[in-house]
Amino acid sequence: MSQDPYELLGVGRDADGDAIKKAYRKLARQLHPDVNPDPESQERFKQVTAAYEVLSDPQKRAAYDRGGDPFGGGFGGQGAGFSFTDIMDAFFGGQGGGQGGGRGPRPRMRRGQDALIRIEVELAEAAFGVSRELKVDTAVRCTTCGGEGAAPGSHPVPCETCHGQGEVAHVQRSFLGEIRTLRPCAACRGFGTVIPDPCRECAGDGRVRSRRTLTVKIPAGVDNGTRVQLSEQGEVGPGGGPAGDLYVEIHVAPHEVFERHGNDLHCTVSVPMTAAALGTTIELPTLEADLPEGEDVQRSFDLQVPSGTQSGHQVLLRGLGVPGLRGGRGDLAVTVAVETPTRLDPRQEELLRELAAIRGEEQPSGDVRPAHKTVFGRLRDAFTH
Ligand SMILES: [Zn+2]
Ligand SMILES: [Zn+2]
Repeated sequence: MSQDPYELLGVGRDADGDAIKKAYRKLARQLHPDVNPDPESQERFKQVTAAYEVLSDPQKRAAYDRGGDPFGGGFGGQGAGFSFTDIMDAFFGGQGGGQGGGRGPRPRMRRGQDALIRIEVELAEAAFGVSRELKVDTAVRCTTCGGEGAAPGSHPVPCETCHGQGEVAHVQRSFLGEIRTLRPCAACRGFGTVIPDPCRECAGDGRVRSRRTLTVKIPAGVDNGTRVQLSEQGEVGPGGGPAGDLYVEIHVAPHEVFERHGNDLHCTVSVPMTAAALGTTIELPTLEADLPEGEDVQRSFDLQVPSGTQSGHQVLLRGLGVPGLRGGRGDLAVTVAVETPTRLDPRQEELLRELAAIRGEEQPSGDVRPAHKTVFGRLRDAFTH
């Protein structure tokens, strides 16, 4: 749409506000949809109105005169001080957005709404997938009337108030003269038909609430907030219209050992000071240990703790994390926490004092370093990088 608004209204570039208004009124009367209902006239009427919207607004007119796009905001934009969408609605009966307006009755049958249910799954179920039985409570098509809403043996009949049109005319006065507006018929709520004998099962709605059991397959790799879509398992629409979709939103329960970061798993294993000093091997469970018995999976692994392992030491085990929704698999990061012994008995204390004496550690001087080179700095780095 690149037409010149001056040409559209048939006025000169120097036309003043009154001349522009006069030209628009004249054209609007000619192109009024009740006078000229053909689509071409209606289209021209829209163009002329858009042109008037530009030229009647000093700012927009100046912007156009400077070479701007006159209809940059599209038809019926936010006209300053003068609502043209109101006029458009008055002429076109609220087409394009107004509910129930426009041409003809609105259908009784409409698509139903989507439904959402939330379920909680265990971390292993989210990681490896699971099938769940769900109890779903949604509207379903009424079997008594088949969705039509009329009692068996009867049917909807045309509305006498609007003669089946679904809308009735209202006349109002405006600066353009009398304007006829079509509004939804109150007697039939715009349907054009009434149900003289509504179905008793659904009270004429064509649908009833029902509880049913569904099996949903939750794919491997889902995370907190993932929504699994089940097509056409949502609410059946009014008049027995097609069902919306059902979304199952996943919430993953916290795990007592593993913490999930994306597709990686983190856990901490405590090792006695002596074992960390001497070195050892510890058998740890994998996330697969949570899966039902009988599945052939790796349920544990041996963590090597080399002699001299420091607290905060991290071991990365490739491929023992969570499978990705689109393939691949994350890692398992195990952090070693070295435990200092407490509640020493006399014999243990004696041995430790002897060890300290041999190592010359009876009176440590304290090895002061920047924070990032300490165990706690490394721990922090491990979790933030
Ligand atoms: Zn029914
Ligand atoms: Zn009616």
